[in-house]
Amino acid sequence: MLIVMEHSATQEQIDTVIQAVKRLGFAPQPIPGENRVAIGVLGNQGYVDEEPFRDLPGIQELIHVTKPYKLVSRDFHPSDSVVTVGGARVGWGLEPVIIAGPCTVESREQVRVTAKAVKAVGAGILRGGGRAFKPRTRPHSFQGLGFEGLEYLAEAGREVGLPSITEVMRIDQLELVAAVSDCLPIGARNMQNFDLLKEVGRVGKPVMLKRGMSTTLEEFLAAAEYIVVEGNADVILCERGIRTFERALRNTLDLGVVPYLRQVTHLPVIVDPSHALGRRDLVIPMSKAAIVVGASGVMVEVHPNPAQALCDGPQSLDPAAFAQLMGELRAALVVGIPSAEKLPQGIRDDAKHGSFPQAY
Ligand code: PEP
Ligand code: MN
Repeated sequence: MLIVMEHSATQEQIDTVIQAVKRLGFAPQPIPGENRVAIGVLGNQGYVDEEPFRDLPGIQELIHVTKPYKLVSRDFHPSDSVVTVGGARVGWGLEPVIIAGPCTVESREQVRVTAKAVKAVGAGILRGGGRAFKPRTRPHSFQGLGFEGLEYLAEAGREVGLPSITEVMRIDQLELVAAVSDCLPIGARNMQNFDLLKEVGRVGKPVMLKRGMSTTLEEFLAAAEYIVVEGNADVILCERGIRTFERALRNTLDLGVVPYLRQVTHLPVIVDPSHALGRRDLVIPMSKAAIVVGASGVMVEVHPNPAQALCDGPQSLDPAAFAQLMGELRAALVVGIPSAEKLPQGIRDDAKHGSFPQAY
């Protein structure tokens, strides 16, 4: 960080800032200028927090040189990261991975039937998810089968040859969940549970971090940084919709984050349209949209009989609808957009010259 002092700053104020930098364990580097002094803050591996400087008199501006999410940023790591979950590879530009399974494990049979159905049409990872343990907003809702559910999920995954994933909700369950789950999803409600983030950062299993429903992208990336800073760089980001003024749908699917995050981070990003929309009829079109904007995968909820699901039935696809989703995804990827020759002449010329008319 660079601290720019006001031109009227006194020597005493400059000294106070220098002392503050030292107290925080950094090396101050005063840079005298014609009209004012700037103080470089050196020796910091990461981001310097502004807060200790906010109340100090004589400071004109604090300029950040490093982002608050240095390790996950492209500045630090320009090439794309590929995260391996069981046998599935998740990364920018790779074939999209489709993660499917029930919101929550309800019975051995339910997860087994679902696993067979999703594997048969090309899912790459079984979720179950992350709901053997189930974070519910209301205490009276079904809370999940607990450890029994974990076993059923892992068994179903093994039977059909799919990696399986289930959410880790608490530090004291981490060891058990990590022993059976091929990846550790952290749900939206836990995205800023910093103690949990630090702990999963010390485990040798990939992590899927779901965006909190009211978090900014900077907070999302800073949460991922918590995990990477502990030594675990295998992090997948998951956009799952945010809470806005809109009430017609469960959340607002913020798809613009996919190409944005592609620019700022090397971590793969997937999209969960089930929790974003809350309605099964919208899951297929928005899954396609997610892949078209560059998501490295989608995660959707599938239940053998959604009408009887104990959780999130209205947004769950049945096996036939999931098969349709897979078919439509394949078609969307193969058909592509019309080639330039098929576009009307005017648009062709505009495209050639890199400009488009203001109105069509
Ligand atoms: C889920 O994946 O089942 C889930 C509850 O997701 P989120 O944490 O995004 O709400
Ligand atoms: Mn769910």
